[in-house]
Amino acid sequence: MKSSNVLTMMTATKLLHDSMLQRGASYPLHLGVTEAGNDKEGRVKSAAGIGALLLMGVGDTVRVSLTEPPENESPFAHKLLQSIENLNVENLNIQDGTLIFEDDSVDEERWYCRAAAVTGYAHFTHGLRNLKLVNPHFSATQITDYESLIMQACRIKILNTEFVACPSCGRTQYDIQSVFAAVKQRFAGYPGLKIGVMGCIVNGPGEMADADYGLVGASHGLVCVYEGKKRVSEPMLPEAAMTVLERFIIHNS
Ligand code: SF4
Repeated sequence: MKSSNVLTMMTATKLLHDSMLQRGASYPLHLGVTEAGNDKEGRVKSAAGIGALLLMGVGDTVRVSLTEPPENESPFAHKLLQSIENLNVENLNIQDGTLIFEDDSVDEERWYCRAAAVTGYAHFTHGLRNLKLVNPHFSATQITDYESLIMQACRIKILNTEFVACPSCGRTQYDIQSVFAAVKQRFAGYPGLKIGVMGCIVNGPGEMADADYGLVGASHGLVCVYEGKKRVSEPMLPEAAMTVLERFIIHNS
């Protein structure tokens, strides 16, 4: 039921939940957005997908996946659960396809968790075209940044390059955290493009199946460049692989 695509993960889980209800079956459901990435993007994706399903009353256990030290995952999962507790989605303010979400949370993480969860819920149930956040404690720039991140996570508007990346995993044999950070910095300005940074060649190509390009871990500090599911380079150092990747992107754009 997991997917790096928030909408896919929500749709699949909700279908399974509804199907179980129809059959009178009840098994616990585990919620997670796989390969969500890092920093705010990764957290917003998880908050949107996991949070929205929980607001529908769907889900029993959760996993937040981050391309960061693994000890960062559980505290954020707890934060997400606490942030959306008692969040009311009965009287959503949706005007002409725009969700207007007013909240006075002072804590930034709590605020964007709530905003992402409500937006994921509203988009899934009503279909949104836009998002407007209102919070007196944050600057206009912060508000605009989170509106973009949340809309991208929920696939309401694609405004930036989409990234997927593995969490810490025993199969990874290169420094995926620093390589992912470098890839994000270098290839941020391509809205509509999806790039995967995957840990291993065993599952990486399959798990980034809908990405346009990817770097996939080979062995001992080396990665290969992929175009879709096709490997287009020999194993090489990540810096060299990024140059190859850039050539492909520029050539095909
Ligand atoms: S693709 Fe490989 S490295 Fe990434 S999470 Fe899956 S098994 Fe682990």
